[in-house]
Amino acid sequence: MLDFAFEPPKPEVIQGAVYDWELVIGLEVHAQVSSNAKLFSGSSTEFGAEPNSNVSFVDAAMPGMLPVINGFCVEQAIRTGLGLKATINLTSAFDRKNYFYPDLPQGYQISQLYHPIVGEGEVIVEMGPGVARRVRIERIHLEQDAGKSIHDMDPNMSFVDLNRTGVALMEIVSRPDIRGPEEAAAYVSKLRQIMRYLGTCDGNMQNGNLRADVNVSVCRPGDYERFQDTGDHSHLGTRCEIKNMNSMRFIQAAIDYEARRQIAIIESGGKVEQETRLYDPDKGETRSMRSKEEAHDYRYFPCPDLLPLELDPAWVDSVKASLPELPDEKKARFMNEFGLSDYDASVLTADVESAAYFEEVAKGRDGKMAANWVINELFGRLKKESHGITESPVSAGQLGRIIDLIAKGDISGKIAKELFEIVYSEGGDPAEIVESRGMKQVTDTGVIEAAVDRIIAENPAQVEKAKINPKLVGWFVGQVMKATGGKANPKAVNEMVSAKLASDGRL
Ligand code: ADP
Ligand code: MG
Repeated sequence: MLDFAFEPPKPEVIQGAVYDWELVIGLEVHAQVSSNAKLFSGSSTEFGAEPNSNVSFVDAAMPGMLPVINGFCVEQAIRTGLGLKATINLTSAFDRKNYFYPDLPQGYQISQLYHPIVGEGEVIVEMGPGVARRVRIERIHLEQDAGKSIHDMDPNMSFVDLNRTGVALMEIVSRPDIRGPEEAAAYVSKLRQIMRYLGTCDGNMQNGNLRADVNVSVCRPGDYERFQDTGDHSHLGTRCEIKNMNSMRFIQAAIDYEARRQIAIIESGGKVEQETRLYDPDKGETRSMRSKEEAHDYRYFPCPDLLPLELDPAWVDSVKASLPELPDEKKARFMNEFGLSDYDASVLTADVESAAYFEEVAKGRDGKMAANWVINELFGRLKKESHGITESPVSAGQLGRIIDLIAKGDISGKIAKELFEIVYSEGGDPAEIVESRGMKQVTDTGVIEAAVDRIIAENPAQVEKAKINPKLVGWFVGQVMKATGGKANPKAVNEMVSAKLASDGRL
């Protein structure tokens, strides 16, 4: 396990015209469950399908249709809860949240207000080596997504696409424990990473499969600590909620703008109104969408079409037993087992595929060397072509064999880079390439000696200088390496040059 005796990050301080202010942020993240079927119907959830082609009678809310809970979606919510070290509520229930919107034909959303499926948990958000904050999760509930209204296809008409209607969402609600824009983005990244490890949400923000409602308020230094001590929200400022953010960059920009807007209002004697706002990325501003509605505005009541959801504790235990190793644990293990730095371990555990690739390369080899090759050479090369690890033309086996050739002394580090490039662009077995293209390191001392003798003989002036400055041995080594096409063993060359210069009484 990771040792989290970490220093908490410092809260972001914004200087107003009059006072210093701190930020308080709480997020409601909507994560689409990775499921082929919707939450209460068997319709497909395929992205980008022909509009209104994935709509069953249940999704279209035809009279008399009844929802049937999708057990797979329930399991994914449980997995997510367990991954966030949260309490699993063995009994939960669905409620109707009533509102009219053309892309939700039922006239209500089936959600979980009173008895969510998952209770309190936590996310550890790291802001650099040794600096981490624990963000508490208040709850996770399951609910239906709405469809999509399209207003920009025709000057006189709006259209509606119900393909998304009824798709399962997990709403993950944090406590207001986040203290700055970067931390908010880091929190969303960490949630995304954990869910991708679990396979419960693909985290695709562009497609809207992960989006966040961002609650922002400002307070004077000390007020947040008072809130933490007492749990009393009255120590905090009035918050505004920025709806539906699906980019890490915009989340940060919106928080910063919103905090400054609130500070200006308060410092000029005004009062922040609790409301729902929208971020306009073109203008870099938030603007009012509607005044904040309260739970009673939605006339919530238990959904009469669905029985309470009762979970068998033995089943929950079996789900728990099937969880994969999660990012924090994997990172700690990589640091311990392979002697990696905090940074390298973070990079290599960013996603499961990279971690698995690295482990295969490192198995039975030097861990640090494997990490260097994967991060600096492979990731660097893939990045040039905007490729991910799963598209790597070099397999873990091939990269491992390149490292073996270096370890055996068959090739130098420099030649290994050339070899890597050949394997990357042409493929093939590294050992065979070294053999067939004559890339093997020259260890034949006779060949090296001849080159050393020749360089010494040809450069009497340098030899004179080396008498005064022994560091010039490096210059001779470089010349010999050049003369042998980089294939001489640098260690052997170094030893031989030093010995020759010394034995001739030249040094
Ligand atoms: P509601 O039910 O009215 O939406 P919640 O208590 O569920 O309110 O809170 C919604 C979100 O707002 C949560 O993520 C919570 O952390 C966050 N939040 C609550 N109070 C504040 C505050 N003063 N500043 C920033 N965020 C807050
Ligand atoms: Mg809420």
